[in-house]
Amino acid sequence: MAESGIARFELKAGGVTLQGEAELPAGPVSVEDMLPVFHGLGSALVNIAVQAVEADGHSISCRAGCGACCRQIVPITEHEARALSELVFSLPEPRRTRVLLRFRDAVLQIEAAGIRPRIEQLHLIGERSDRVRLGIDYFSLGIPCPFLEDESCSIHEVRPMACREYLVTSDPVHCQDPASLEVVGVHLPAKPSHSLSCFGEGDGHHRFVLVPLVLSLQFAAANPAPEAHVPAPEMLKRFLEFLDGRDIPESEPAAEGPSD
Ligand code: SF4
Repeated sequence: MAESGIARFELKAGGVTLQGEAELPAGPVSVEDMLPVFHGLGSALVNIAVQAVEADGHSISCRAGCGACCRQIVPITEHEARALSELVFSLPEPRRTRVLLRFRDAVLQIEAAGIRPRIEQLHLIGERSDRVRLGIDYFSLGIPCPFLEDESCSIHEVRPMACREYLVTSDPVHCQDPASLEVVGVHLPAKPSHSLSCFGEGDGHHRFVLVPLVLSLQFAAANPAPEAHVPAPEMLKRFLEFLDGRDIPESEPAAEGPSD
């Protein structure tokens, strides 16, 4: 793999092999710098999974105009939280203020409901039943993602990995109930969001916090990005290894969660 420019790679994940190439930034990079590459890889894997379900005679029910899943907690990586924060503050007015107000309203709602401490500790919740309970409590508040406009994602091109991964083949009506056993998701050969969460310090050796999307601005303000110090080809190689299930680091939260 070359030090910079176009990198050719082979991705093996869950029995699927994907060959491709990616344009890598030159020099040491941060995970934020690599997000377009990682998101592109994630979407490529999702496309493979979609082709598989369609070959089985199913179809994806998710459509523009259906934003039920955009009222879930949406756990994103810290890198995506910083990237989204940067995106929001770069928006032209009056859109920036509109989006900022939506973030503020969302935070006020989770504080009024008393669940902010629980969602800040999202990454530490070990029991699946506790995560499900929290997901139901959050969904019941009906808080739309601040980027949801006309029930469609207004940042589709740069949406977080978790949003790319979530597709269903069941009737969208079931998505209104997060506890529904009728929701049938698309099985992915590997979880790119999981791989991304392993890049705490940018070197792929620490699993870091997961940030609820609605707290991303506050997280970014309290947790500046680590300095870029990993060559892009090395970071891509680690990401591909994680996707293939190799060498996943133990959970090792290394920083505080979102704070005021
Ligand atoms: S970023 Fe887009 S896809 Fe993800 S929850 Fe928000 S509106 Fe939905």
